[in-house]
Amino acid sequence: MAGIYIHIPFCKQACYYCDFHFSTSLKKKDEMIVAILDELLMRRSEVGEEPIETIYFGGGTPSLLEASELNRILAFIADHFEVIEHPEITLEANPDDLNADALQKLAQTRINRLSIGIQSFYEADLKMMNRAHNADEALNCLVEATKYFKNISIDLIYGIPGMTEARWLQNIETVLSLGIPHISSYALTVEPKTALYKMIQTGSIPKPDDGVAHQHFLLLMDRLKEAGFIHYELSNFGKEGYFSQNNSAYWLGKKYLGVGPSAHSFDGQSRSWNIANNALYIKSILDKKLPIEREVLSEADRYNEYVMTGLRTIWGVDLARVENDFGVRFRSYVVAQSERFIADGLMSNDVGILTITNKGKFLSDGIAADLFWLNLK
Ligand code: SF4
Repeated sequence: MAGIYIHIPFCKQACYYCDFHFSTSLKKKDEMIVAILDELLMRRSEVGEEPIETIYFGGGTPSLLEASELNRILAFIADHFEVIEHPEITLEANPDDLNADALQKLAQTRINRLSIGIQSFYEADLKMMNRAHNADEALNCLVEATKYFKNISIDLIYGIPGMTEARWLQNIETVLSLGIPHISSYALTVEPKTALYKMIQTGSIPKPDDGVAHQHFLLLMDRLKEAGFIHYELSNFGKEGYFSQNNSAYWLGKKYLGVGPSAHSFDGQSRSWNIANNALYIKSILDKKLPIEREVLSEADRYNEYVMTGLRTIWGVDLARVENDFGVRFRSYVVAQSERFIADGLMSNDVGILTITNKGKFLSDGIAADLFWLNLK
């Protein structure tokens, strides 16, 4: 088992673009923590004797939990699971929760990595996305966090309507000036059923422009390469030694146990996901029933997932592994399907490892879809 993921389903307010599962009411916070501990126990046997290498508090906004509550969950995991000596333990955190006092307390827990949702250092961008923090908090929390944590990742969003190239570059420069060793960066995407979607439909916000987002992505790749970052996954850049071990394990197809409402798990053969409703999740756990759905992956599903995630990473798609895990017909298929992308300079085949070139990176999901095995499901 590579890791444990814990979904903390609470946020102070709803960011306009967000389609994750969360509630803005913290009334059930105590019951939720108890339910999460119960779920960990109910699913203990899924892990077997495999040691836990990474623990990840995601959400939602896990930094809404007190350090004592995080410690309680970590102590429970240590008591009931075999955990390696130095696991990577990540807390997703929002800037408005990271004042000096909170950081001091977090530094005394076993948490050793922060993933901070900065998104932008500009007030106009933060307001447009309805983030709970302001520009001062974005900057100040990083100045403070770097006093206590070495392993920090920050999220940045590009392609925001109204975001100029100069503003985007300034965001990148600010991160670099603070010595942050890991950046996750995404284009602003418009998901159905979000407030952002409705605002665009009614014309109160312009639609994000794909061309602008592409340009921002190119600037990001260039500047971070120059600054010594490794572009190890499509949306992730890390200095040597600072890749996310938790996320790398997902991308390399390792197993993980996800607990909490809406959390997903993977046991090597099947995927499962918990109900995305706080009250129903708690009730089900109290009734000693797992609020879970499972899907056993077909051979084609597992191949498609490998292609999708492999092409997003520097590790690529290993043709020998394709042949070994799925057979020679899958290998022949992926080689044939990738030929035209290689000819167009969008992919490369380097001693049996297929990867996406820089030119193809912005198109990688579409390229992967063309390599999917569609007919055998
Ligand atoms: S803080 Fe994160 S999870 Fe919460 S609404 Fe904003 S983007 Fe979504």
